[in-house]
Amino acid sequence: MALVVQKYGGTSVANIERIRHVAGRAVNSYNAGNSLVVVLSAMSGETNKLVGLAHDASEFPIGREYDVIISTGEQVTVGLLALALKEMGYKAKSLLGHQVPIVTDSQFGSARIEGIDGARIMAEIEKGTIVVVAGFQGVDTDGNITTLGRGGSDTTAVALAAALKADLCEIYTDVEGVYTTDPNICQDARKLNRVSYDEMLEMASLGAKVLQTRSVEFAKKYNIPVMVRSSFNDAPGTLVCKEDREMEKVAVSGVTYNKDEAKISVLRVPDRPGIAARLFRPLTEAGINVDMIVQNISHDAHTDLTFTVTKTDFKRAFKIIKETAGEIGAMDVIGDTNIAKVSIVGAGMRSHAGIASKMFEVLSKEGINIQMISTSEIKISCVVDIKYTELAVRVLHDAFGLGREEILEER
Ligand code: ADP
Ligand code: ASP
Ligand code: MG
Repeated sequence: MALVVQKYGGTSVANIERIRHVAGRAVNSYNAGNSLVVVLSAMSGETNKLVGLAHDASEFPIGREYDVIISTGEQVTVGLLALALKEMGYKAKSLLGHQVPIVTDSQFGSARIEGIDGARIMAEIEKGTIVVVAGFQGVDTDGNITTLGRGGSDTTAVALAAALKADLCEIYTDVEGVYTTDPNICQDARKLNRVSYDEMLEMASLGAKVLQTRSVEFAKKYNIPVMVRSSFNDAPGTLVCKEDREMEKVAVSGVTYNKDEAKISVLRVPDRPGIAARLFRPLTEAGINVDMIVQNISHDAHTDLTFTVTKTDFKRAFKIIKETAGEIGAMDVIGDTNIAKVSIVGAGMRSHAGIASKMFEVLSKEGINIQMISTSEIKISCVVDIKYTELAVRVLHDAFGLGREEILEER
């Protein structure tokens, strides 16, 4: 008998009909002899609505109360699925994060899981119960409700799979797996049969929101095979697993984009030791993460410094940097929220040369200006004007031969 954790995303539980469909899938797996834990998201659009309400009530909603509000969508879906399963004649029980408990730190809005006590779930499983757990939420050591960051139900599922030593974690969503790029903006996108933890980590952190980055970190750390597939059909999905030789052959395996970042430029910063530390320290203290950083060559002892933060943090970051810039004698601070980060990812980049120059050429041929560049061993990212996002993704996908046609021709 296998222990399986299944997670269903927002579109998969969007209404009662979809929830009944999920119940049917869960029951099929249960009847095949599996012990089952089902993790659910809120109905699609629900968390956005709750975030909107919190912001209507307050310009910077306080973390603790914010999480109390935005975690409620999942409470509704787990109750509904447990009811649907009972209607079908099965034992089912819903559990919220604090009832498991899933213990996190106190970083409201983006809490990290610190521990999961699997005893209550295992006791229910032994009674033959299908356990339905609310995704996205946890509880800190003071008993406060926390949330795991947008898309966090994926992390709930994989972390539960690790804690319960499950045999498989299935992530059910609205596409058939992990594709070479977002299939919703590129018709030519091709489904990958398998993708390594490392590539998936890069793709997720660079914007492929099909899996939350943190869930892939858990999967890699605890070696949990994760199957991403559709809840709308029975097509085979994508297995996220350890890297093998076959995977290394492809230089570029995916193209991603992220429209959730904004750019801040600090102009004519006096160029002296310690200035970067002075600029970024207040951001760190405010819990704001900086992603890309570019510093220009110094002219007459002054330099320009540009960096990106998430759009959610933009207003706060801009205010903080304006103050610091004044204190250190910088000339001005400019913000730009109309940017997107487009990236190419591939484990094979380690052993292939010329990938970066090809990327830059492809973008320049389309007249797309590159505003910032960052690279790692297996990815190259460029910041461009947001209006070119889809175009950039499509031309890169095409240029690196990721489309369906190219693969068919190879065969
Ligand atoms: P869920 O609500 O099921 O968690 P999400 O909306 O969070 O679903 O994630 C699925 C979406 O991820 C897809 O609809 C697709 O638009 C997007 N996506 C972005 N990049 C990729 C990719 N490389 N492969 C598959 N889906 C992707
Ligand atoms: N409902 C949460 C969100 O929209 C968590 C999730 O869907 O994974 O971000
Ligand atoms: Mg998601």
